[in-house]
Amino acid sequence: MLNSKAIKNDQDVLVEAQEISVIYPNGAIGLRQASIQIFNHQLTVLLGPSGAGKSTLLRALNLLVKPSAGKVKVKGMGTLTNVKNIRSHRRQTGMIFQQHQLIGRLTVLENVLMGRFGHYPIWRSIFALSKLERSWALECLDRVSLQHKALSRCDALSGGQQQRVGIARAIAQRPSLILADEPVASLDPAASLKILSMLRSICKQDNIPAVISLHQLEYARQIADRIIGLKNGEILFDGTPEELTDNVVYQIYGEIKSIDHQAAS
Ligand code: ADP
Repeated sequence: MLNSKAIKNDQDVLVEAQEISVIYPNGAIGLRQASIQIFNHQLTVLLGPSGAGKSTLLRALNLLVKPSAGKVKVKGMGTLTNVKNIRSHRRQTGMIFQQHQLIGRLTVLENVLMGRFGHYPIWRSIFALSKLERSWALECLDRVSLQHKALSRCDALSGGQQQRVGIARAIAQRPSLILADEPVASLDPAASLKILSMLRSICKQDNIPAVISLHQLEYARQIADRIIGLKNGEILFDGTPEELTDNVVYQIYGEIKSIDHQAAS
């Protein structure tokens, strides 16, 4: 695993999780001593069946889930230990969620402007943001081909369009990292591939490293520079899509056929 082509040199490490374990209050084990390094310029996909720990690992990378053991280090900030460096890391991290987490009654533009929120003191409402911010938000909407919907209510958009707003909101933050948690889980295959390709090309154009959790093997193969395979809270595989052999897929999922079926359905 160490000489995988997906592993770059230490200077490229943006975030490092060291032996992270997560035990939820109900006793469920989310992660077992998982260690990973997230590299600049790389699109990493967390792959694995439901309950494998993908979402837990992704959220542990900005401490939305608190590890029971282990630590998270960020380039230029060191170990995340205090409110100040955790907030600062989160401000630089664009999150994209499965259910978008947009506010349906607000316009598309207002939702994108919320991506800028963390950069301002609390007393400034989104309505008081400058013209410059608005034109930046419009530019971000243009990147996802939704500028013409800027003044529509968010809840009038399709699921795929809403996820594109979610991407625009994340990039409006000018993030140094994007974390996307099952961003296409509720979309049909055509919309899923469109969203993932869009996300990939934006990350590549802007040089933003991204970590995306997915359960569909085929999408992972198509968009990832690097795949991390999880099962039962443990990392079983860390390598390039080419290195993800049928044998490894079998170890992660227990069955190959069901995965092909999932990806094609
Ligand atoms: P995945 O994203 O791969 O589906 P998760 O990270 O959501 O996996 O879950 C890993 C394990 O942690 C599972 O056993 C799941 O039931 C458990 N888990 C996840 N979130 C919670 C939670 N909020 N409370 C209790 N258990 C949880």
